[in-house]
Amino acid sequence: MKNIKNFNLEELKDEIEGLGEKKYRAEQIFKWIYVDKVKDFDEMTNLSIELRNKLKEKYTMCNFKIIRKQESSDGTEKYLFDVLDGNAIETVLMEYHHGKTICVSSQIGCKMGCKFCASTGIKFGRNLEAGEIVEQILAVEQDIQENISNIVFMGIGEPFDNYDNVMKAIRIINNQKGLNIGARHISVSTSGLVPKIYDFANEDLQCTLSISLHATNDQKRSSMMPVNNMYNLEQLMQACKDYIAKTNKRISFEYALAKDNNDNLEDAKALVKLLKGMLCHVNLIPINKIENGKYIKSTNENIIKFRDYLNENGIVATIRRELGSDIDAACGQLRRKNLKDQEE
Ligand code: SAH
Repeated sequence: MKNIKNFNLEELKDEIEGLGEKKYRAEQIFKWIYVDKVKDFDEMTNLSIELRNKLKEKYTMCNFKIIRKQESSDGTEKYLFDVLDGNAIETVLMEYHHGKTICVSSQIGCKMGCKFCASTGIKFGRNLEAGEIVEQILAVEQDIQENISNIVFMGIGEPFDNYDNVMKAIRIINNQKGLNIGARHISVSTSGLVPKIYDFANEDLQCTLSISLHATNDQKRSSMMPVNNMYNLEQLMQACKDYIAKTNKRISFEYALAKDNNDNLEDAKALVKLLKGMLCHVNLIPINKIENGKYIKSTNENIIKFRDYLNENGIVATIRRELGSDIDAACGQLRRKNLKDQEE
C-alpha cells in the first residue's frame, strides 16, 4: 500500500486519474487531508463510497500513533510517534512569541556521528519518507487542534542525507492548497554535506538554511563532527559563500558552546574572522549535556561574552532559548527509539 501523504497535489492528480477518476477529486482529497485534517478515507464525505473503497484498497493514511507525550515546564512538548514499522521517532512542539514551531525528524537515527548529539550512537534505521515527515506535522496539529506556523528540520537525522524526501516534504508542507506553511517559515539544518548545499541553492525555495558549524578550525571541528573529515571547513565555507551569492539569502550558523572547548575569546575572534562580510546570522546554542557525552555547557557568563563579542564585531548573534531540556527535548537530545524498549 502506498502512503497517500507521499504525493504532492500534482502527483496525486496523476494517481487519481490512474484510478479512472477525474483530476478534481485529487483536489478534494488533498483538502480533506491537509485542510480538514481527517484521519480516514471514510470521512471524505464528498467522495462516493466506491471511490473511498478504492482509496482504502490502494493507499494508507499513515496515521502515526502517539506512544507518549511529555510536557516540559516551559510548555515545550515532545511526542514519541510509532511510525508503524516497529520504530519510533521524536518530534518537538515549541511555543515562540510568533507562534508554534515543530521540530521534525528526517531519519530514523543518524549517520553523521557528531560527538555531542544523542541521535548518534544508536544504529541507523532508515530514511523517513516524505509522507512520514509531513505526518509529524499533521499528527501534532490533530492532537492540539491548532495550526502550526513554523517548521524546523532539526530533529533526528541529517536532512541532506535524505535530500529528495526532505525536498518533497517541504513542497507538500508549502503547498497553498494544503498546509500552506510559507517557505520563509521553514528552516533546514545540515551538518555540512557540501554537494547538497549546492543542490539546495538551486531549489528556488525561500527556506532558511542553517549550518551546524560549532568550530572554526578543522582540527576542532573534526573532533566534534566526523563529517568534517569528508568536507572540511574551507569547502564548507566556500559552499556557503556560493549559496549566498546564488540565492541572496542569509545563512544561519549554529554554534553550540561547550565549556573549555570552543567558548573562549580566541574562538569568538576566529569566528568573526571566518564569517566577516558574509550575509549571515549566528545562533549560539548552550550545549546540552547528553548521556556519556564529554561536552559540558558553557557558563552563562561566557555565553553572553561570546555573543557580545560577535555583535560588537559586526556579526549578528543571538542565543537560542533552551526549550524542553527537562524532558530531553532540547537540541541534540532526541534519539531514535525502538518500540521494544519503551519501558526505559
Ligand atoms: N543533522 C542536522 C540537523 C540536526 S539539527 C544538523 O546537524 O544540522 C540540531 C542542531 O542541534 C544542530 O545544529 C546540532 O549540531 C545541534 N546539536 C546537536 N547536539 C547538541 C547538543 N548536545 N547541544 C546543543 N546543540 C546540539
